[in-house]
Amino acid sequence: MKILFYGTKSYDEQFFTKLLPQYPGIEMKFIEANIHEETAALAKGYDAICAFVNADLGKDVIEALHHCQVRLILMRCAGYNNVDLETAAKYQIKILRVPSYSPEAVAEHAMALVLTANRHMHKAYIKCRENNFALNGLMGVNLYGKTAGIVGTGKIGQAMARICHGFGMKVIGYDAYPNQNLDFLEYVSLDELFERSDLISLHCPLTDETHHLINEESIRKMKDGVILVNTSRGGLIKTDDLVDGIRDHKFFAVGLDVYEEETDFVYEDMSERIMPHSTMARLLSFPNVMITSHQGFFTEEALSAIAKTTLDNAKDFMEGKESPNEVTA
Ligand code: NAD
Repeated sequence: MKILFYGTKSYDEQFFTKLLPQYPGIEMKFIEANIHEETAALAKGYDAICAFVNADLGKDVIEALHHCQVRLILMRCAGYNNVDLETAAKYQIKILRVPSYSPEAVAEHAMALVLTANRHMHKAYIKCRENNFALNGLMGVNLYGKTAGIVGTGKIGQAMARICHGFGMKVIGYDAYPNQNLDFLEYVSLDELFERSDLISLHCPLTDETHHLINEESIRKMKDGVILVNTSRGGLIKTDDLVDGIRDHKFFAVGLDVYEEETDFVYEDMSERIMPHSTMARLLSFPNVMITSHQGFFTEEALSAIAKTTLDNAKDFMEGKESPNEVTA
């Protein structure tokens, strides 16, 4: 089975190539170009393509893959909101994903964002390097004894809840399907979570229901001085309303690993470019906002697990086996 890997970086090739000897019958080709209408035709002669969260797998691209006789799309990530499942089903193209690789990787990054934004680590690092040992502008707040609100208590939300509990925080949560195993977590309504939380961390998937969950109205319900972290999907937050909230001094700190415009620049070195007008630039201008580049998943453990599950998915497909990792419309 021949697989074309789109949008690859050196680390993808490194982690997949290391495992390849364990998967006889699979051939892999890595290209840097991401998949979109112009590059979909490169899949001609391949049985499968492998793509990541930032790929465009809309209707036109899937139709182009169908013309190339691609039968399988391997998502080397958990999320699939960028895949047109109806069109894939129409052409009998299977979608297999990696539902879980290392929830702790993302949860630990969420807490890293909280700590960095709250205690101004990014500024302290630069200041000390420049022999500026003054503390002005670096004051934070204690997390101990405060209330953490976890929106979505699935795999990553649970890992974040455990971390917050370890910090001595009271942990409350909201989920469409509450998890009874978290005995230290109190489930509340979404409104109550907004009203009571000192830290809000988003871990629910992006759906029609959760799109712009954080908007002017929900921000108004939050405590003044709340810390907000999003490591889930950019579309959960209405960015313009967040910007207004930051301007109104609603937030003590904001940590974002994902944001609405991210597909335009994420994973690319844009340091030589003049950025076009964007809300991203506005967010970056605030001193209490910490932004990273969709890197929550980026640990050695997670990359090994992603490569293994993706190749297991390819093997299951090759052998005609049903897979619990299949995504259907
Ligand atoms: P999961 O499926 O284990 O958990 C999601 C939880 O959200 C479930 O418990 C579900 O019941 C709940 N949920 C669904 N709809 C909801 C709603 N309307 N309101 C509240 N809760 C709702 O998923 P996970 O592995 O914990 O991943 C969570 C999200 O993290 C993914 O959807 C993905 O977008 C994101 N993610 C980000 C990175 C990164 O690198 N930053 C990496 C992996 C995943």
